[in-house]
Amino acid sequence: GAAVVLFTRDLRVHDNPALAAACAEDRVVPLYVLDPGLADISPNRSRFLHQSLADLGERLRKRGGDLIVRNGDPVAETIRVARDTGAGTIHLAADVSGYARRRERRLADECERHRIALELHPGLTVVAPGAVRPGGGGDCYKVFSPYHRAWSKAPWRSAAPTPERITLPDGLSPGHLPTLPAGASPHAAEGGETPARRRLAMWTSNDIEGYEDAHNDLPGDGTSRLSPYLRWGCLSPLAVAEAARSRDADAFVRQLCWRDFYYQVARVFPKLSTEPLRPAGDRDWRHDEDALQHWRDGLTGVPIVDAGMRQLRDEGWMHNRARLITAAFLTKHLGIDWRLGVAWFFRWLLDGDVPNNSGNWQWTAGTGNDTRPYRRFNPIRQALRFDAEGVYVRRYVPELKGIDGAAVHQPWRLPEPERRGLDYPGPLESHRDEAVWLRD
Ligand code: FAD
Repeated sequence: GAAVVLFTRDLRVHDNPALAAACAEDRVVPLYVLDPGLADISPNRSRFLHQSLADLGERLRKRGGDLIVRNGDPVAETIRVARDTGAGTIHLAADVSGYARRRERRLADECERHRIALELHPGLTVVAPGAVRPGGGGDCYKVFSPYHRAWSKAPWRSAAPTPERITLPDGLSPGHLPTLPAGASPHAAEGGETPARRRLAMWTSNDIEGYEDAHNDLPGDGTSRLSPYLRWGCLSPLAVAEAARSRDADAFVRQLCWRDFYYQVARVFPKLSTEPLRPAGDRDWRHDEDALQHWRDGLTGVPIVDAGMRQLRDEGWMHNRARLITAAFLTKHLGIDWRLGVAWFFRWLLDGDVPNNSGNWQWTAGTGNDTRPYRRFNPIRQALRFDAEGVYVRRYVPELKGIDGAAVHQPWRLPEPERRGLDYPGPLESHRDEAVWLRD
């Protein structure tokens, strides 16, 4: 018989339970359907997706197979391919977002109509969403620490074997990848399982050692930068967690647990991107298009905020500490709606996804799972602590290159002639008062 494996965000051949299950049949159709409904959201992610699909195709061809690419409604196209090839089963990784779950349900209905079996598999997280649940019958954990305790004790599934040989049904045309969209970040990482595995090997052989001490240091850039590969499934989260556990890198494994945490939240709250988890935390947000645009452009006049926002556009990625600072600045200092922050990050982030982007934004805005929702972040204090010498700011804000040391964080304190010579804005009108930065 034949089976279809529908790839979504599991773009890899290693530890791919859906692919491995399909390979139990003697003919396999590895399929990806480009969904026009998702096409225009982010040039960065479109490009990363394109590179990841090209790499996946390469890896499948090495095993005798290929990647079949179709364009259109994923449900209709998948059913069409299954019927054309006489496949009796469709294999798919179970997902959590509202959009993905609706797609899953539609596919299940169509499969039933056409008497095709649909099998859902794990693979997008280390521990499957919903596999650990709070006592007392709740659907998901809303607070991280108890989730982390339960997660740490949960058994891990065994990794799925990488198929050695894949045989396609006869007469399938592979189809085409789309042309690359314009407007991607100039220094974005390259997509695909091949660069992903290279990066993971480097990370686990060296840098992971220093993670616990270095992960908050902005200029040191001492985090793994594996997030885009996890987002697209170029890496198996389980394989990454196993590699980290074997190095006793608990602090790093804990971050992977944060990722799983937001997945199990998103599974239960499909409107995570638009509705507050904790309605009491939603405020009367200010409408200030001008301040919002300055924030987007990295021109708020607060160097640490501007550096983060420019890293985002330059690389399609931002250091976690900078994400926290820029998100808190938008919501807690400018008082602007977190949903607008979600949308801007989603436009640029290679790792942008609903659970982690919206979940973290809600946490920072105080509408989410934070156990201290009223905490405020003083951006200057953050800057002096995590970019003590100003190296990160000078890296991303060239206008300030000439200012040495920590003084770069408060250009408004420079002597007047020096300040006037800078091609850099003063702090936003609505927050000109320096006391705003030093309150708290
Ligand atoms: P590392 O520090 O090396 O961590 C390893 C892995 O753990 C990451 O790759 C990621 O998969 C996971 N991880 C780390 N921190 C978190 C966290 N706070 N929440 C969830 N998972 C985490 N992460 C995304 O993957 N996608 C997003 O869209 C996203 N949006 C964010 C928005 C805001 C406002 C904030 C504050 C954080 C956001 N994060 C998001 C979380 C975090 O910033 C990134 O995962 C991290 O910076 C990725 O870099 P890294 O791979 O070097 O991380």
